[in-house]
Amino acid sequence: MVPHIFERKKEVYFQILMFEGKVPVTCTFFDKGYTISLEESTRQCLRTYGIDPTDQALEALGIPMIVLKHNQGGLFIPVSMTNGRKDGIIFYNQLYPSPNDIFNRAHEEAHAAVFLGLGKGLERLLGSSYNSLHEEDFCDSAGRHALHIRGIDVPSECATPYEERLKIAAHMVSLKQSLSNS
Ligand SMILES: [Zn+2]
Repeated sequence: MVPHIFERKKEVYFQILMFEGKVPVTCTFFDKGYTISLEESTRQCLRTYGIDPTDQALEALGIPMIVLKHNQGGLFIPVSMTNGRKDGIIFYNQLYPSPNDIFNRAHEEAHAAVFLGLGKGLERLLGSSYNSLHEEDFCDSAGRHALHIRGIDVPSECATPYEERLKIAAHMVSLKQSLSNS
């Protein structure tokens, strides 16, 4: 029998989610670890792809400056190249106490897993449906899963729906602005 031309796959492992899957060899997950500046790590990351990381370039790529300046949590950067190569890159602040850190890292891992085509496998693991949730809420449920499997209680702030978090963040930003304007 003539073997079919098949897409070569490789294993990828997400250590905080304790989840592994097979992705095409053209897909790579990069966990860059802790950073003290989301902004600096983002600019550095873009430079490695030959992109001049100006504020305008960041905005054009859908990376809001406000998120970078705020320097909260973590970041996932999806890179899709015309030759089909896909890189899913994450980095994140170190959060205290450790349940918040686990939640944060698992959240970013989930973004990368979805981007690299492992959304279905992750759905099975989490028992929550990707399509029925905002991606941020799906990734939050991954964060809670990472706590559950370690027998750690979910901190209340890790149970806040994305819509609510947005309102809080927007409120904090406008508060900051009004304070600096006064
Ligand atoms: Zn997210």
